[in-house]
Amino acid sequence: MKDYKTLLNTEISCECGKTHYVPIKDVDFLFKAGDISKIASQHIEGKEILLVVDCHTDEQINNEIIAELKKAEYNLTISRFTDKKLVPDEKAVGTILMDSDRNTDGIISVGSGTISDLARFAASRMKVPVITIATAPSMDGYAAAGASLVVKGAKKTIKAFPVTAIYGDIDVIANSPYEMIQAGFGDIAGKKTALADWALSRVVTDEYWCDKTVELVENSTDICLENATKISQRDKKSIEYLIEALVLSGIAMSLADDTRPASGGEHLISHYMVMKDIERGKIIPSHGITVAFGTLILSYLYEYLLGSSEFLSQDNSEEIKEAVGKYVPAPKEVKEWLDIIGLPLHPEGYDVDRDYLEEMILKAGFLRDRFTVFTYLDKLGVLDKAAEYTVSKLYI
Ligand SMILES: [Zn+2]
Ligand SMILES: [Zn+2]
Repeated sequence: MKDYKTLLNTEISCECGKTHYVPIKDVDFLFKAGDISKIASQHIEGKEILLVVDCHTDEQINNEIIAELKKAEYNLTISRFTDKKLVPDEKAVGTILMDSDRNTDGIISVGSGTISDLARFAASRMKVPVITIATAPSMDGYAAAGASLVVKGAKKTIKAFPVTAIYGDIDVIANSPYEMIQAGFGDIAGKKTALADWALSRVVTDEYWCDKTVELVENSTDICLENATKISQRDKKSIEYLIEALVLSGIAMSLADDTRPASGGEHLISHYMVMKDIERGKIIPSHGITVAFGTLILSYLYEYLLGSSEFLSQDNSEEIKEAVGKYVPAPKEVKEWLDIIGLPLHPEGYDVDRDYLEEMILKAGFLRDRFTVFTYLDKLGVLDKAAEYTVSKLYI
């Protein structure tokens, strides 16, 4: 797994025809708070640092980082978020920008995904380097180029600079709130259906494909799924697999210069649920937990698709079956993963009733212009039948 380091900050000419470049300079999960000033001096020129922290990280870690930086004579400004469930919206971005200074030389964020996205976006706008200290294995955005923010009430991925470097202390990460571990695991389970959608699109629409990128995502995902029980027990080695898989999935997006390797129809279900919850004024559910539910839905949609007569009568049905079959999990497998990690198997556990489930299957696929199983089912004229099938399977 450590071989991902060879992908950083170097040009790789690939068999896919692209020259890949991941601008991230370093990733290391053997980090300890005592290393912070050395790391800061490697990546940030100057002494003015804006530190962005949340209230979920153990105060002791924040304090150790602050003390270390002060000892090395850094001038710190601290942007501290105390929200229980921080929404990464205009107000949060504004807070960081207001706390920054014209002389800010760099940003260090300490926290989980939301904090990292916000800090990265602000740093992009301020054109300064940004170091992420990851404290939870909660999502795959740490290494992503886009920042996932809420803009005018809707979740959007906005172009931003990638992070300069990512560090984390595995002892801290393994002790993060369990919901964050569940969310990270859910986001990783979703890579199976994301790859299936990409493989489907490759056959049907001749979309770009990179074996190297796919292999990275597939291998790092499989090792997490194989170690699901140990991840649920917070076994340190297995949590390391999880945080590495999450970072790798961000790196894969950089390699492909697209979110395709990490995001398929399961993410569209997640985006739909977030959009609806914002509309209803509800607390936004964790990204990875809705992705886990989306993965379960997609496994049923694929099960329906691959057995339907409309599909089997297509000229390329065998080719598609073979391409997709390598990645798409059976509903039974997804249920096992969710069960091990302690996520609900029934839609009601995600606050989704029968009508809402049907609605999201019919609509979520068209939120973005991306070819997924939704697009293909619609093309074959069987999306409503596939929705009916999935609803009947999930509401027994
Ligand atoms: Zn390639
Ligand atoms: Zn995701």
